[in-house]
Amino acid sequence: MAANISPQPLAVGEQNSNSNEVIPNINNIRTYATSLNHKQSVAPLTKMTLKPFEIVHGIPTIQFSLEEREEFAKEEGLHQAVIIKLSSDALNLQVLRNNLPKIIGIKGNCLLGSLAQRQLLIRCDQYEDYVCCLARSVNYFQHNGKEHQYRVFPWTVGYNPKEETSKAAVWISLPNLSPELFAHKALLSIAAVVGKPIAIDKATQIRSRPSTSRVKVIVDILDTLPEKVRLQYLDAKTGKIVDDYQEIIYDNLSSYCCHCKHQGHEENQCRRLKGKTVQDARVCDETVENEHQIVEKLQGDSRVFLNAKRAGQQLI
Ligand SMILES: [Zn+2]
Repeated sequence: MAANISPQPLAVGEQNSNSNEVIPNINNIRTYATSLNHKQSVAPLTKMTLKPFEIVHGIPTIQFSLEEREEFAKEEGLHQAVIIKLSSDALNLQVLRNNLPKIIGIKGNCLLGSLAQRQLLIRCDQYEDYVCCLARSVNYFQHNGKEHQYRVFPWTVGYNPKEETSKAAVWISLPNLSPELFAHKALLSIAAVVGKPIAIDKATQIRSRPSTSRVKVIVDILDTLPEKVRLQYLDAKTGKIVDDYQEIIYDNLSSYCCHCKHQGHEENQCRRLKGKTVQDARVCDETVENEHQIVEKLQGDSRVFLNAKRAGQQLI
């Protein structure tokens, strides 16, 4: 279904939507965010305990923990939000609101707005729609005879519109997992070793494919993702522990370029680094500020390098 229109006035830089658009009666829209707005409009705000601030080097400073930001994200309906990145900004927001949710396959209500140039933020009311969006990854749609590409990323706390996130939703397979461990608590605990589990595939749910279970997980592709997990089976009577190593297989794990901050290629394929001589390199965005910056040319798996770099280690 079509996305609801944000009822607020246009912000600076916000695209003006079609003048013929029908503004819905916002009291009838039963979305997560609007129901909260409704509550907020009657809530006695003065009773709210506000975060204290202190003056640090002459600047008023307020501190938020990651946990607090994640709580705020839930309050704002962002726990089920995705970023849609468009290949061009030829389409106006109203066209996108009318068409994109249908194209992506969103069945319930959603809120769609412009987050930055060529970037849309979609908040889904239904968890199924959120997972459905993330299943799209890279896709195309036709409008007025032109093909438009869009890419889908999970929104997470700390998302920076100027950089492409290194978070991605990927399917992982657990071949030959012992069938009793298909139980949700066991399966999701195992999947949580690599990231945040968001969905279990149908064959796993209906137990029609006992050879392999599959879980969709939001991972950070810059992390060194484990290829196996050690499962320990404890015999409480004897105290004996048996180790079992469970293989983890990742489907279509995207690479990430830390130079231009984009998914889809690594530094050794980066056009921005090598000029336009690399034919297969994907086009980097104009967001790269310093084209001539010299960075290390990485060989092999750059994730190993990057993790070491993050950990502050020296790597030759
Ligand atoms: Zn690059």
